[in-house]
Amino acid sequence: MLDWSDVDLAVRDAVREFVDKEIRPHVDALESGEMEPYPIIRKLFATFGIADMARESLNKRLARLRDGGESKSSGGGGGMFGDGSGGMGFVVVSELCRVSMGIVTGMGVSLGLTVPTIMGRGTLAQQERWLPDLVTYDKIGAWAITEPDSGSDAFGGMKSYVVRDGDDYILNGQKTFITNGPDADVVVVYAKLDEPGVDKRDRKVLTFVLDRGMDGFVQSQPFRKMGIHSSRTGELFFNNVRLGRDRLLGETEDNSAGDGRASARSNFSAERIGVAAMSLGVIEECLRLSVDYAKTRKLWGQEIGQFQLIQLKLANMEVARMNVRNILFRVIEAAQNGVAISLPEASAIKWYCSQAATDVAMDAVQLFGGNGYMTEYRVEQLARDAKSLMIYAGSNEVQITHVARGLLSD
Ligand SMILES: Cc1cc2nc3c(=O)[nH]c(=O)nc-3n(C[C@H](O)[C@H](O)[C@H](O)COP(=O)(O)OP(=O)(O)OC[C@H]3O[C@@H](n4cnc5c(N)ncnc54)[C@H](O)[C@@H]3O)c2cc1C
Repeated sequence: MLDWSDVDLAVRDAVREFVDKEIRPHVDALESGEMEPYPIIRKLFATFGIADMARESLNKRLARLRDGGESKSSGGGGGMFGDGSGGMGFVVVSELCRVSMGIVTGMGVSLGLTVPTIMGRGTLAQQERWLPDLVTYDKIGAWAITEPDSGSDAFGGMKSYVVRDGDDYILNGQKTFITNGPDADVVVVYAKLDEPGVDKRDRKVLTFVLDRGMDGFVQSQPFRKMGIHSSRTGELFFNNVRLGRDRLLGETEDNSAGDGRASARSNFSAERIGVAAMSLGVIEECLRLSVDYAKTRKLWGQEIGQFQLIQLKLANMEVARMNVRNILFRVIEAAQNGVAISLPEASAIKWYCSQAATDVAMDAVQLFGGNGYMTEYRVEQLARDAKSLMIYAGSNEVQITHVARGLLSD
């Protein structure tokens, strides 16, 4: 693949127009928390018919399952927009990230993690119960693994647990840094089964679906954080939450596809690849703003773009843009040919692209001088937003271990 297709470019222009009209004027309100991101996402879905397409695709899937067809999870292509979106999904993601990465983070967790987990592990009844409102974004989803004492060591250190009580389970524990946590209507929660006699690190991980407002389930206020302010992040508390078996995904403790660890891992590649599209948006916007500034800011009687150290920054940004875009082209072509991107490659992609976006954005701040440090010029927001990509979806240090493990296992 050498370039975006004509359809991708048409989608890009249409989304760009939407972003300029519906998001850019509200960035300050989104950043301050005065405005919630969800209505904007719903408007995006309505404008581009995404909700209708998602509803139609889900209806077909459920009809197939009712007829005894295969329960195959959707995925690939960044996960968020389902199968067959080709480059389109990535174009939408990167265009939004040029202005408000938080919007994509919230949308990505709901559509790219919560939905695929329920699709991949849920029974037909569970899919019918939760998916119709989630795929259209009428309801907001969250996906909760991380705890105060277990982030990178997510499953080994997990302390949230369920105890069997007749046919039910009683859930206790706490999750943190959960995207959409304060507002989610539906939350996928991973918890350890209380198995006396089994080492705590090795206990089975079960996956449940909780609804907002259940007894004993508390969702915190949003955390204050460094960037992606238009994504609301919080804590979840479980205090003797009673869960019927109908909330255990698959309704069995012995899922043939493995326990909750396997369920979480199945999302990893799509999540990591999605970071490449998010990074591209940041890089392209930084480059656009920086070239413009280099051509207009005058010092010592000439544009700063004439200084070679400024040119080096611009050239580095351009190389990063080319690399990240080419990585995405490979991902799109692989999807079109039915070739899966391996976990080590997805990890390398996530590591490289998030680092590139952060470096580019920090260089953009520097290129703008004092103005770069001021909110009005937007590059400082892009830098704060980009940094999040190095931490979530598995920290970059953890990605490096996956790349190395892939090499050493050959
Ligand atoms: C904005 C945001 C949104 C998030 N959204 C969600 C969400 O929706 N759901 C969810 O479940 N979680 C979410 N997270 C949590 C995120 O996945 C974790 O923060 C991340 O996995 C890192 O875990 P930690 O914060 O506990 O850091 P730690 O695991 O404590 O890591 C501390 C440091 O040690 C490094 N480290 C860890 N292991 C190794 C190793 N083997 N070798 C070398 N260095 C290592 C890390 O890279 C890091 O630098 C979110 C986090 C953020 C910041």
